[in-house]
Amino acid sequence: MIIKAAQDTRSAARVAAHLSRIRFVLINTTHPGNIGAAARAMKVMGLQSLHLVTPKTFPCADATAMASGADDLLQRAVVHGSLDSALAGCSLVLGTSARLRSLPMPQMDLRMAAEGALAEQGGQDIAILFGRERYGLTNDEMQRCHQLVHIETNPDYGSLNLAQAVQVMAYELRMTALTDAGNQFAPTDWVGVDAGQMELFYDHLEQSLLDIGFLNPAQPRKLLARMRRLFNRARPDQNEINILRGILAAAQRAAGKGDAK
Ligand code: SAH
Repeated sequence: MIIKAAQDTRSAARVAAHLSRIRFVLINTTHPGNIGAAARAMKVMGLQSLHLVTPKTFPCADATAMASGADDLLQRAVVHGSLDSALAGCSLVLGTSARLRSLPMPQMDLRMAAEGALAEQGGQDIAILFGRERYGLTNDEMQRCHQLVHIETNPDYGSLNLAQAVQVMAYELRMTALTDAGNQFAPTDWVGVDAGQMELFYDHLEQSLLDIGFLNPAQPRKLLARMRRLFNRARPDQNEINILRGILAAAQRAAGKGDAK
């Protein structure tokens, strides 16, 4: 019994440690009650890190009322003026979505998403994005995501309330952390790339494609969106990004564009 209790404590600590790297990012939420309900949904599953990008109204009494005993999480919620700021320090970005968009993205079910999030190597945080009540995530926001996560639903009526989507995601993360804690998280030499570093890479890629005459600014089509999809799928690590940027700089020099980054 004593051994079992000690094991339980260790595994509870491990579950808490795995979950502590996961931040939920609510974008441009309209109803403050949803923010409060999301905080409660997170806390009951042992998730702590709530980030809010340009919420319509926050702080707000409606949010506090809906949070119930989770108002500590609301008080610690970090409010950001931009998605860039909310993603700083994150190597993996997952976007939750009720529907597909014009350029389909790799899509996972909830279980795969939870497993992928908890298996992320490299020690940086993992961000899970939740969109606005009325129209979800924008295309630009989706292109910041490595993968999209869809909660399986009735095909005729598939849009969950925001806080309920948060609840289902948080539950799946907790279940995965409980079953996998301790054996799935071996360290490797893979060094995750921070979301901000990825944006610098995409800026460099765009500039190089212009410099070498491959990207026609008058007719960009979906080239950059497709490039983002490719690299988000490939998940290059920091060394590989350095190599790619070296190649871009060499191509810029070869095209006579001296100030290669
Ligand atoms: N009408 C919007 C739905 C917004 S619901 C749309 O079609 O995109 C608000 C948020 O809840 C979504 O942006 C998403 O983050 C989450 N959500 C709702 N239903 C979901 C589902 N079935 N799978 C994954 N996320 C969902």
